[in-house]
Amino acid sequence: MLSMGIKKGVKRVLFSIDSSIADVMYKRPYFDRESKARKQNPDKILHLDLVITECCSLKCRDCSNLMQYYQHPENLYSDDVINDLRKLFESVCVGELKILGGEPFVNQKVLCDVLDFLSKNYTEKYDLISIITNGTIIPNAECLESIKNNPKTHIVFSNYGDLSAHQDELIRICTDENIRYSVIDDSFYWFDFGQPVEYDEPDIFVRKQYKQCYNRKYCNTLYRGGIYACPRQAHAIHLGLIPDTKDEYVDLYDPRYENKDDLKNAISGIANRKQPLTACRYCIVSKYIHVKRGIQK
Ligand code: SF4
Ligand code: SF4
Repeated sequence: MLSMGIKKGVKRVLFSIDSSIADVMYKRPYFDRESKARKQNPDKILHLDLVITECCSLKCRDCSNLMQYYQHPENLYSDDVINDLRKLFESVCVGELKILGGEPFVNQKVLCDVLDFLSKNYTEKYDLISIITNGTIIPNAECLESIKNNPKTHIVFSNYGDLSAHQDELIRICTDENIRYSVIDDSFYWFDFGQPVEYDEPDIFVRKQYKQCYNRKYCNTLYRGGIYACPRQAHAIHLGLIPDTKDEYVDLYDPRYENKDDLKNAISGIANRKQPLTACRYCIVSKYIHVKRGIQK
């Protein structure tokens, strides 16, 4: 407990002195450690975010996934999400499937349906399911049962400090119910991705930003029938904040991909894409500006 406190204190000091020192100390993800694995496994997406809701129990000013821009956020429907998963798993498999929103426990009915479906189907097609929560909502008994019934599932707490008001209670429940969990606890500060407006940055900046970007490596995204390189791209297009560049994501239901191999190749093309996205021109994550985590609008 004491060492955790010291570690947090050291981080605070480092961030306040110079964020670039903190970047080096805390090994910001400049290097693409999984590049080889990605190329060698064209039929596998190593990390895939599965969006089941646009609703969130928090309204973070600097949400990199742009949830704060939804005026009328919606929960997705079970049938739609499950059909997307069927279509996906007919062509590729997934390493880590991250179920998120917004806040996934806002949409517990769909979360249960998806977990129950994945407990009975395509179990050999994914390695791990992570439910990414902000720790503000205690799931109901049915939802806990669905989590327990899928042995590949664990809960990941995105710790926002005092805002994660029910995190400790849910951790106690996880311990009692033998549900695996982990806490991401290393981020007093977030990177500012900027507002989704077109920035006047040179091509070299945009290329480097995309190359180094954590999201395009670890957060390929399945959202409303599309496979996107990153969640920001997915939501910015859906919100109409950036141009809808259809050749930069894969529509799972595009008749061009009737053949499973064609769909597999198209999805692999997203995961291994070398050229930056149009969305990257509306993003300044690699300016590495730190903002305090979880500031509410
Ligand atoms: S809790 Fe997470 S998903 Fe919700 S607004 Fe904040 S950063 Fe975005
Ligand atoms: S828009 Fe580009 S740079 Fe920004 S998070 Fe997505 S992939 Fe990364």
